[in-house]
Amino acid sequence: MAAAAPTYRRVLLKLSGEALAGGKPHGFDRTAMQAVAEELKPVLAAGVQVGLVVGGGNLFRGLPAAADGADRATADYIGMLATVMNALALHEVLQAAGIPARVLSALAVTGVAEAYVRSKALAHLDAGRVVLCAGGIGNPYFTTDTAACLRAIDIGASLLLKSTKVDGVYDADPLRNPDAHRYERLDYDEVLSRHLGVMDATAVALAREHALPVRVFDMNSRGALLRIVRGESVGTLMAPANA
Ligand code: UDP
Repeated sequence: MAAAAPTYRRVLLKLSGEALAGGKPHGFDRTAMQAVAEELKPVLAAGVQVGLVVGGGNLFRGLPAAADGADRATADYIGMLATVMNALALHEVLQAAGIPARVLSALAVTGVAEAYVRSKALAHLDAGRVVLCAGGIGNPYFTTDTAACLRAIDIGASLLLKSTKVDGVYDADPLRNPDAHRYERLDYDEVLSRHLGVMDATAVALAREHALPVRVFDMNSRGALLRIVRGESVGTLMAPANA
């Protein structure tokens, strides 16, 4: 019997830099990146188009560097370049795993990546390639969570998938508090008013304005990505209250 058609035709996956570092405090972990490739394979085989925004936190973040005295804008540009490095590393691993992919960067790095141009991104997605969106939105003072919301809206993704270390959004830290409760569903205002830290406020506001559903889940949970695109309720859904 043929597998059921996926619920989502096009999704945007946000991976933090940490996801590429495995358990390491810094840098890359090839095994962790190969695990990402393995999670993507059945999703792509099901006919789902995947855009991917990568963070840079395993290499560099602007805000702590600025707190240390660095010029904030310069620090943020270094952070954006870290996301380009991550995208190149993940691209290589995906290609080696037989997954066609392209890096499109919001920051001009012509020697290593195409510029992010919406029509190009859509053409790559339609051709079955994973589009790795690097360089955030190309401006300092933003995060890759905001970039993920922006790109999801830009490419017409019907769901933003935000991977975290835990399997959803909790009312307390589940790693420290065994009584922490996982939310099945939240609306954008609840996330903001309860300071749940799902994404920064700019990203949440953007998602709210465009009624973009965001599913928070644990990428290390095998098969979770596939279950989500098939419509299963995995992790926590942030969505409009009345949808
Ligand atoms: N950044 C930026 N503009 C953007 C996206 C990212 O200036 O549009 C910089 C910022 O310094 C940030 C760093 O890039 O700290 C890495 O991104 P982020 O912290 O979002 O990575 P993650 O936490 O997801 O690994």
